Amino acid sequence: MYCIKCGGKTKSDIINGDNIPRNRCEACNYIHYINPKIIVGALPFRYDKVLLCKRDINPGFGKWTLPSGFMEMGESLEQGAEREAKEEANLKLKLNKLYGTYSIPRIGQVLFIFIANILNEDFRAADETSEVKLFSVSEIPWEKIAFPSVEFFLKNYTRDFLNGKNFLFHSNF
Ligand SMILES: [Zn+2]
Repeated sequence: MYCIKCGGKTKSDIINGDNIPRNRCEACNYIHYINPKIIVGALPFRYDKVLLCKRDINPGFGKWTLPSGFMEMGESLEQGAEREAKEEANLKLKLNKLYGTYSIPRIGQVLFIFIANILNEDFRAADETSEVKLFSVSEIPWEKIAFPSVEFFLKNYTRDFLNGKNFLFHSNF
């Protein structure tokens, strides 16, 4: 590969004090670290229902997911989660708290999902989404969930909901 700074040739090298090979530029010495990417999103709910987005793109086309996406430079986790919800479903949210994290080492991704109250009525399918819908816990389409990570958060939500966790019921904002 070529250096992203100067276009010079790079060489795989173990740098002093490190134990993983890195691509280092032979011209300018820039070291190309490759680190996991952060995905931010929300588990939006109103009263006893959670909002899911049907994906209009691959992977997971036609399956249901939580509004989420890659965090951008210059934003906080919270800003990223709010932005993605707005972009994909025209949602206005009040983020309650970080609901959980989920690591996918195989593809180098880490998810941060906030549990959030839906503030607006006019949410609708937008970017990358063909449909948005509110589901009660008994209606969640388990056979058509896009990713194991989404299934993980929805299972936690269902468990917490059935256990009557307080934060799930502060719905009136
Ligand atoms: Zn270089």
